[in-house]
This record gives sequence, C-alpha cells and structure tokens, in this order.
Amino acid sequence: MRAAAAVAALVPLVALAITAQEPPKDAREPVKWKHNDRSRPRPKVIDPGTASTPDQPGKPPSDAVVLFDGTDLAEWVRSGKKVDGDDAKPNWKVENGYAEVKGGGITSRKKFGDAQIHIEWATPKEVKGSDQGRGNSGIYLGGFGEVQVLDSFENDTYPDGQAGALYGKFPPLVNASRRPGEWQVYDIVAHLQKVDDTGKVTRPGRITVFHNGIVVHHAAEFGNKFGEYTINLQDHGNPVRYRNMWVRRLGDYDAEGTPPPEKKK
Ligand code: MG
Repeated sequence: MRAAAAVAALVPLVALAITAQEPPKDAREPVKWKHNDRSRPRPKVIDPGTASTPDQPGKPPSDAVVLFDGTDLAEWVRSGKKVDGDDAKPNWKVENGYAEVKGGGITSRKKFGDAQIHIEWATPKEVKGSDQGRGNSGIYLGGFGEVQVLDSFENDTYPDGQAGALYGKFPPLVNASRRPGEWQVYDIVAHLQKVDDTGKVTRPGRITVFHNGIVVHHAAEFGNKFGEYTINLQDHGNPVRYRNMWVRRLGDYDAEGTPPPEKKK
C-alpha cells in the first residue's frame, strides 16, 4: 500500500518533467496552468545584486550579462568595425571605473532579444555647449532607435531629443535629469516585435524606460522589425561617461522554472 502510494505520488512529478521539457510557445497566450497550481514550475532563484550610489556602482544581478564592470571594454567593438578586425578595439578612455566617449561609437559584441538593460551615464561636469551640443550621446538598440543621452538639466532642446527621449518620436513623460557630472541611470525593458506564420504582427516591438528610477516611457511602440539587436553607444562629440552596464535576457513565463519541491510525506 505504501509502495503504491509512493508510485502515485511520483505520477505528477513525471507529468511535470514531461511538461517542463515542452514549455508553451508563448506563455502569455492562454495560460495552461490552473489558478494557484502547485505543480507549476517555480521561478528561477537569482541574486538581485545591489543598487548604485552616486559614488559607487552597484553589483549586477546574478543572471546578468555584464557589458562593462569598470575594467575594460572587452564586450564592445568600435561601431562599424568587424568583431575580429584589427581595428575593432574601442578608442574610449577607461579609467577610475568608467569609460569615456572618444573616437567613434561602440557596439556590443553580443546580441539581445527581450531584455532588461541597465546603463549608467554621466554628462561632463564642466558644462560646454548648449541644446543638442551639450553632453550628447545615446543608446541605440538596433531596430528600436535611440534612447537619447543628453545633459537636459536646465538645457532646453526639442522635446523628442532631450534626455530620456525615444529620439525623434516620444519625449520622456517627465524630465528626471540630474545635474551635469552626476551619475544617472537608465533601466530599459525591450520587447521584440512578434509575427505569426503569415507575417502578421501579433505583438509590436515595445520599450519601457526608467530614468533615475522614474518611468519615462511605458510600453511605447518604438518598433523592432529586425530581430535580435546589438547595443550601440553613440559618439556625438561630447565626453560622456558610462559605467555599470548589464543586460538580463528575459524569457517567457514558466520557461525557465524549476520543478516544485517534493511533497513532504
Ligand atoms: Mg544622441
């Protein structure tokens, strides 16, 4: 009787093992799990890391792809150069834990899809220029366009070109800029466009941006028709600095879960 009970207890585990191998194509579609289903895979456990302070970059989450930790630009190439070319090494100055724009933009070696992107930046403390000529750089997610980097602290320009703008289309919802020279943070969530077998768009490319923790775009349709993308940092002729850059690849619900713990007897 006890053995039979043990076998019976195993059945749902075996069923789970089978379903775990075949995750739904898109778990946002009608959900296959019952409400409060205890056999549903458990979300992966990660270490969330720590937040940055003005003086000190934080620690990236444990599941992040680190693009720059203050040491070197090994994860980047000069924009427009071949990844393995002799001239691929970025010209940017790396010192004191930051990288400073110099001699052309840089492009990530890796490509990304649905992702959470964390990038910290600072415009020059010594203010030079005005309008688009003051602390201009930018973050291009290939196919999405540019998330503008600019010194927008008491520096007027056209709204869809100020800091936090999705360049040329959407101004930020608010101007959450810090002073020149202070470290600022973008947390970006990018979702690729999805198409069905007939080529019909079932989900447009979307982008959400937090500037210094403040939401400035929420699921804005800023297109991505091109599949996976590199991340490009713009050289606009101003010595903007970057530090603590990382990306978390985002999966669908339940896709990366672990089986539930075994039931206590
Ligand atoms: Mg720019």
